[in-house]
Amino acid sequence: MDGLLTDEVAVVTGASSGIGRAIARTFAEHGADVVVADLRETPREGGRATHELIEAETESRAAFVDCDVTDVDDLEAAMDVAAELGGVDVMVNNAGIFEPDDFLEVGPEQYERLQAVNAKGAFFGAQRAAARMVDDGGGSIVNLSSIDAIEGNGGQVAYSTAKGAVRVMTYAMAHRLGPEGVRVNAVHPGGTRTAMTGDADVDEADLQDYVDRIPLGRMGRPDDVAGAVLFLASDLAGYVTGSSLVVDGGYTNTG
Ligand code: NAD
Repeated sequence: MDGLLTDEVAVVTGASSGIGRAIARTFAEHGADVVVADLRETPREGGRATHELIEAETESRAAFVDCDVTDVDDLEAAMDVAAELGGVDVMVNNAGIFEPDDFLEVGPEQYERLQAVNAKGAFFGAQRAAARMVDDGGGSIVNLSSIDAIEGNGGQVAYSTAKGAVRVMTYAMAHRLGPEGVRVNAVHPGGTRTAMTGDADVDEADLQDYVDRIPLGRMGRPDDVAGAVLFLASDLAGYVTGSSLVVDGGYTNTG
C-alpha cells in the first residue's frame, strides 16, 4: 500500500486500545512512525501492545510513552519522544473516557473527571503538539469528538459537554493555527465497538434499536474511524481545516 504518511511522525493518545489502536496501526501501515501515548500499555480489549504489534507487522517504528493526558508534563514528554523520531507531524487527541449519567445527579467530581480527560486532555495535547509544529513549519491535528457533540443525548450530559468543547476548540484552534501551517479537524464517531461500548452499559434491546436506525445497518468499527482520521491527517486533506467529519454510518443526519 502506498503510504499517505511516509516519513511522518505521529503521536496518538489513548492508542493502546480501541479506536486509537486502529489509528496507530493504520498510520504505521501508511508509513508513519508512531508514538503511543497512553496510561496503560496493554489494550483494554486484550492482545499484544500496539507499539509491539506495529514494530512486528510494519516497517514503521513505534514507541510507547506512559502518558496521562490530564498532565501537561506527560504530554510534553510524548512530544520529546516524537522529537527523537524526527519531530511530531501529526497529533491525534484520541484518549477519552465515557460515563453515562443522570443529569440531575451529576456531581462536580464526575463533571471534572470527564472534562479533564476528554476536553482538557485534547486542549493541551493540541497545544503542546502545535508549539512544536509551529517551530517546524506545520502539521496536522485531529481531535476525537463524538456524535454527542452534534445532537443532544440526555443520558450523557456531562460527556456531551466535554465532547462539545472538543468540537468548538477544534474550530478555534484551526483559526489560530491556519496561518502557521497547522490544520486542525475533528472526527465525530457514532457508536463504535470497543471496550468503551461496555462502559456505556446499554442493554441489548436498546443497542439493537440504535443499530436499526443506522442507514448502513451496523455499529462502527475502529478501522472505520481510523480511515477518516488518516484522511484528515494526510495531505489528501491539505485544504481541510476547522472541519468536522462524522463517522456514524449515517445515523446523525437521517431519520
Ligand atoms: P477505549 O476505552 O477503548 O480506549 C481509550 C484509550 O484511552 C484506552 O487505552 C485508555 O487507557 C486511554 N486513556 C483513558 N484515559 C486516559 C488518560 N487520562 N490519558 C491517556 N490515555 C487515556 O475507547 P475508544 O472507544 O477507543 O474511544 C476513543 C475515543 O473515541 C474517545 O475519545 C471516545 O470518547 C471517542 N468516541 C468513542 C465512541 C465509541 O462508541 N467507542 C463513540 C464516539 C467517540
